[in-house]
Amino acid sequence: MPRSVHSAAPSYAPAWLAVPDDANDLVASVWPASAHRDEEGQIVIGGVALGELARIHGTPLLVIDEAEVCTRAARLRDAFRVAAHAHGTTARIYYAGKALLNTAIVRWVLDEGLNIDVCTGGELEVALAGGADAGSIGFHGNNKSAAELERAVDAGVGTIIVDSEIEIERLAAITARVGRTQRVLLRVNSGVHAETHDFLATAHEDQKFGFPLVDAAAAVARIRAVPGLEFAGLHCHIGSQIFGVAGFRESAARVLDLHEQLLEGGDVPQLNLGGGFGIAYTRVDDPTPIEELAEGIIAAVAEGCAARGIPVPALSFEPGRAIVGNAGVTVYEVGTIKDVALEAGIRRYVSVDGGMSDNARTALYGAAYSARLASRTGADEPVLARVVGKHCESGDIVVDHEYLPGDVTPGDLLAVPATGAYCAPLSSNYNHVPRPPLVAVADGAARVIVRGETIADLLARDAGFER
Ligand SMILES: *Cc1c(COP(=O)(O)O)cnc(C)c1O
Repeated sequence: MPRSVHSAAPSYAPAWLAVPDDANDLVASVWPASAHRDEEGQIVIGGVALGELARIHGTPLLVIDEAEVCTRAARLRDAFRVAAHAHGTTARIYYAGKALLNTAIVRWVLDEGLNIDVCTGGELEVALAGGADAGSIGFHGNNKSAAELERAVDAGVGTIIVDSEIEIERLAAITARVGRTQRVLLRVNSGVHAETHDFLATAHEDQKFGFPLVDAAAAVARIRAVPGLEFAGLHCHIGSQIFGVAGFRESAARVLDLHEQLLEGGDVPQLNLGGGFGIAYTRVDDPTPIEELAEGIIAAVAEGCAARGIPVPALSFEPGRAIVGNAGVTVYEVGTIKDVALEAGIRRYVSVDGGMSDNARTALYGAAYSARLASRTGADEPVLARVVGKHCESGDIVVDHEYLPGDVTPGDLLAVPATGAYCAPLSSNYNHVPRPPLVAVADGAARVIVRGETIADLLARDAGFER
């Protein structure tokens, strides 16, 4: 593999991104474990060369490494099981379907013994179509419609996570009408909001999800008074892409105060602490190993319960990106390349044949990604590049800052790793760009799990279109 001469970072380079020794390297924490380069320098995932996939399926293309999803699901399951067992309780894992949901993924996580979380009627239907047992589904959402709740109760959804007073009344009416008992958790807002390495702890969090802690006891009393509702416990989710245990500890301490108080009025068998476990998007992200995270969180809950003299409840967790994020790699073809003169130097704009329609996270959250030439290795010194899409928005950025080999050229394939979570679900048809296919790879074989959109799809809902 060619190694580039070490070059100095331009003055406009972000401080966090060092010039790599080799701008063709595949950083292990970011890529699926199966990723490597073959003798020709092509990137191979799940035993299949990305160039071959691009020839067959076109670009852009979202490749999902099935073994990576399954390995991560199993590792999470085991990490939380082991930690829970060590502290005298149990832990269930619900895969947060909103990160990436289709019937293949549902099947894979079910086979690893996970349950599924959904947050709309649409997600519920996909989970059921994928073979999920309704009884093992958790149903979230701050604005579930009466129709969605009715469908959930009817289908036998195991747990509905109640998010508002209106929802309690809707569920009271529905369960009375259909003569069923529905298990519910109450989502509370602990006032702790975790952001990657830090967390914010306030008395009143300014957001739409859940009940403020001060209002929760009254809501639980109301639930307990409804004959068709079975109160199972509290739920709290403090955010996403969290790296440490500190935010979870603080949140658990606050929620346990309420949990203890609720024990005076009846059973509180469960506690769900949500998801949000961080992953590596770039080489500088260093997530806590999941075993350490599981032990840290569950130990905090167990210690909190011991200090209050109450039993440790059955625990649940809801990871999404930690299961699918690093299993996805988006493959693009490089189109135009422009060297734009800045005051401080030259910035190279590398345009690809997708963009914010297949990965909205950079435009939406300023998310950081990395990129590598996929069809070959580059020979020239690394050049700081900005990978942009083909949309009519200057904010249409896929990778804001990345060193690519200086000989990157139109027609090259470019791969962006860690796109398995929140890319396909947030995709759009902006500029009438068809959504890319999802192709699963495993053991040297590839199969389409969600087909790409066609121009006919783009016109399918247009009432004025006649064939
Ligand atoms: C989004 C969400 C999750 C999953 O978050 P990840 O960062 O993907 O792990 C879990 N629970 C709830 C309630 C959520 O809203």
